[in-house]
Amino acid sequence: MFKPKAIYFEKEIENYELGKELLEKYKDVPKIEIESHNNIEEMRKKQNSEFAEMKKNLIIGVRKTHNFVENHKTSDYLVPYTSSGCTAACMYCYLVCNYNKCAYLRLFVNREKMLDKIINTAQKAEKELTFEIGSNSDLILENTITNNLVWTIENFKDTSKGKLTFPTKFDMVDPILPLDHKGKITVRMSVNPEEIINRVEFGTSRLDGRIEAINKLKEAGYNIGILIAPVILVDNWKELYLQLIKTLNEKLSEKVKKDAFFEIIFMTYSYVHTKINEEAFPNAINLYNKELMTGRGRGKYWYKNDIRKEAEIFIREQMNKYFPNNKIEYIV
Ligand code: SF4
Repeated sequence: MFKPKAIYFEKEIENYELGKELLEKYKDVPKIEIESHNNIEEMRKKQNSEFAEMKKNLIIGVRKTHNFVENHKTSDYLVPYTSSGCTAACMYCYLVCNYNKCAYLRLFVNREKMLDKIINTAQKAEKELTFEIGSNSDLILENTITNNLVWTIENFKDTSKGKLTFPTKFDMVDPILPLDHKGKITVRMSVNPEEIINRVEFGTSRLDGRIEAINKLKEAGYNIGILIAPVILVDNWKELYLQLIKTLNEKLSEKVKKDAFFEIIFMTYSYVHTKINEEAFPNAINLYNKELMTGRGRGKYWYKNDIRKEAEIFIREQMNKYFPNNKIEYIV
């Protein structure tokens, strides 16, 4: 259970039910009042080496911007929802590109406004829309602090239109299993070889826990997606990803294997990641490999086309062999 070292909060949260609940829940934790969750000077001034320590704090505020971003993968819109950032520290986390070393967990207490906007947008649309509510954080993790996912599903299930989806790297799914979600929720579990989880995805759930969570969610009637993401081309990547695909084949239930879909995403990395990781995790693996990677503008790197293509062919071959009936939505 996450116990924050300190809570940085906007005074306005006292006007919201969830804000009051969280202040009461953490009444013994030191508190620092802030003007804005977007700009905490004390945090901005900290060194990269303090990255992991910074993630032990919890920031609570009110979300001011509610702009939906069109998306064309597994949803129609990316929606800013009840949190951003995370207490875990995956070395490639793309939130680090957005928030730099301030990728700590921020909670937003005006959840009614955010869910109302989703429901109203769904109602007005001509077609059935799917909203990605987990693109800025991990909602299974957040739920252990706020119960927001349970609240969301309970308050969304009776709407006549719209669906919700979110990805996760965590296995604490039990609170949502008994809910009557009416088939409107797709949970997309992100997996990686155990060795990569251990060396790169600090603070997330183990592979076995994630697989067990997928099986439980399917049993509870949720739609299931599986992200093999991000694929990281470490020296023995072929062996690791083959083993991962075999393990999924062995341990996923027949129900999951019947209709789960896959998304496969290669790692992108950045100069900011390199700087933070070398100072915050000096003994960790270096994910930047100049032999394999190339720049793609604004300090970002991805795998060179020919190298990525070779890996894609290998993964597609193995997926065809072990998951011949499951759709791969995309490989990017
Ligand atoms: S679990 Fe997701 S949000 Fe959290 S650090 Fe890892 S990649 Fe980032």
